This record gives sequence, structure tokens and C-alpha cells, in this order.
Amino acid sequence: MPTMIPNRHLFGPGPSNPYPEATAALGYPLLGHLDPDFITRLDNTCEGLRRVWGTTNSRTLPLSGTGSLGMETAFVNTLSKGDVAVIAVNGLFGQRMCEVASRCGAEVVRVDHDFGQPIDVERVAAAHPNPTVIAAVHAETSTGVLSDIKALGSVKGDALLIADAVTSIGGSELRADDWGIDVGYAGTQKCLGVAPGLAPFTISDAAFSRRVETPQSWYMDLGLLGGYVGGNSGGGRTYHHTAPVAMVASLEAALDRITAEGIENAWARHEAAGRKLQTGLQDMGLDLFAAEGHRLPQLTTVKVPDGVDSAAARAFLLTNFDIEIGGGVGEYADTVWRIGLMGPNANDASVALLLGAIEEAIK
Ligand code: PLP
Repeated sequence: MPTMIPNRHLFGPGPSNPYPEATAALGYPLLGHLDPDFITRLDNTCEGLRRVWGTTNSRTLPLSGTGSLGMETAFVNTLSKGDVAVIAVNGLFGQRMCEVASRCGAEVVRVDHDFGQPIDVERVAAAHPNPTVIAAVHAETSTGVLSDIKALGSVKGDALLIADAVTSIGGSELRADDWGIDVGYAGTQKCLGVAPGLAPFTISDAAFSRRVETPQSWYMDLGLLGGYVGGNSGGGRTYHHTAPVAMVASLEAALDRITAEGIENAWARHEAAGRKLQTGLQDMGLDLFAAEGHRLPQLTTVKVPDGVDSAAARAFLLTNFDIEIGGGVGEYADTVWRIGLMGPNANDASVALLLGAIEEAIK
């Protein structure tokens, strides 16, 4: 057991460093999960989540698990055996969606794109005449690409639109209601500035009424989870599973902080920091990986310069600067770096630190 955990700059694809308020809240006295004070806090957390999702959906809650649990919850509640799911794939997390949807027994119509490119909305919409679900990743963390979920929402027809907002929530414009997102899931460990462990989730009333009545998963059954956050049928909160009380307190603290900043200001701060980093890397002679015009500010993908050993440079950053950055994914494992500026790290000081350290690492 290490006696002291190093204090890293988490500039990879996530987790990011949490907001100090979120870290402090982990040390608050623990409440029982049915304590009235906790229930008030859970209500406040759900309200904060509605603000960052851009929704009035009553069923907006922090699921007890990571982003992948959010993904499973979205599909297991919307797809029955034989249903058609059109899934846009432009990176690892679109691929994961296909795997999850096919385990629900769905017929998956996969629409592949080159990695580094955004989804082609017209092609996705034309892939099947009558799908039950259309799904896409808003911010592909594996490639650093932002896709146009608003445009997809405008052509989805009768299908339910499932959006992965794990990396976008809190960092990029996200308006679930205005964009026609029926089901959305996210994670806490990126631009929301909280440790990993919860999956912010939202589902519209219309999508809820079309859900699978008895999904294969008891834990992720949204019909049962309504009572967990309370008020599903006008009643109070009922026991479904023991809420991760400390994590909810931490998320509540971060959401309060984001609310005080203003969600649009938080988006603008991520945008400014990310663009500054991208410009700085290009000024150093490095090439960015994601297609121009579709680059995520909170997660920059950059090509490892010729002659530089990717793993050795990342180890240098960790050892000498306590900086973690990510490698690439799949065939790009050794040729791309993924650099995150998320949550409290989206600021000029982080950009300056990163640029100086990377310059040293590639000398
Ligand atoms: N979707 C996206 C876009 C992600 O970036 C991630 C994780 O990085 C996930 C889903 C899965 O989330 P988790 O690793 O929290 O289970």
C-alpha cells in the first residue's frame, strides 16, 4: 500500500481532477440513504442535473455506476429482442454501444465512420426506415470528435434518440430537450469535475412510456428506479438499492459550483482553454488528429511527433511533472495522445503547464 498518493494533474481522457468542493464533500458526515436530509440533497442533485442536461425531464437522476452503466441502462430499457437499433460508430464508445445493444437481442444496424470524423447525420438517418432506437456519441473520447446531436434529433423520425454525453456534459453545449434527446447518459468524472462512480441519466416521459416493461436487468429497471429518486407516483422515496450517499454529496457540491458559475460560462471556459491548447500544440509543430471544425475543446487528440516514443514521453510527463495524458485507442494507441482539460482543469494555467511540459518531453 503506498503511504502517500501522488497528487497528479489528470490531463488525460478522464478521470479529471475534481472540483475542490466535490472532493471536500466526500469527507462530509455520512447520512443514511433514507435520511430526510439526504433525500433533499438527492432532489437538489437531480435539479442540478436537469440544468446541465438542459432538460425538464422528471426522470433525471444519478445512476449508481459509471458511464457504461448509463449506457447499459439506456439500451436495456428501450430494446427488446428483434428491435432495430441504428448506431453511429465513429470511435470506441460507438462500438461499445453496438455490443451492448446486441446483448439486448436487438438487430444492430451499424453505421461506420472513419475515426477522427464526426457522424454523418444523413447517412445515419437513412440506414433503416423504422428503427426503434437511433444512438450516437456526442463527444467521442477515443478520437476527440464532437458530433451534431441536434441535427440527428431533427431527423430521428419516430425512433428514440439515445445520446452518450459522458464527455460532453458540463463541457460542451448540451440541450437535451431542444435537441430531441429521448434518453441520455453521462459520467461524473470528466467535465462535471467529480470522481468516477455515478452516471447522470435522463429519459423523457414519452420515452419512458415506450420502455421495455420488464427489462432483463433488475438493477437498471427504470420502472423501479423511479421510486428510488422519489415522487414517481406521487409518493416519497422508496428503497431500491443503497444510494452511494457520499458520491451523491460530491456530485451535488460540483453541480452547485457549476450552477454558480453558470453552465454556459462553464462551456465557454472549456472552449477557451481547449482552443488555446490546440493552437499552442500546432505552434509547436504538432498535428491535431480530429477533423478540423469538429474538435472537442475538452479532449484534444494530437499526433505523436515522428521520432518520439509515445509511452516514454508520457512516462516522462508523469515522472517529472506529475502530468497524466492519455495514449490513443486501438490502431492509434502509439501514434495519438489524448489530452483533457476538463472541469477545474479547463483554464489558462493548465494550458501553460501542459505546453511547457510537452515541449520538454518531445525535445
Ligand atoms: N462513453 C464515453 C464517450 C466515454 O468517454 C466513456 C468513458 O470514458 C464511457 C462511455 C464509459 O464510461 P465509464 O468508463 O465511466 O464506464
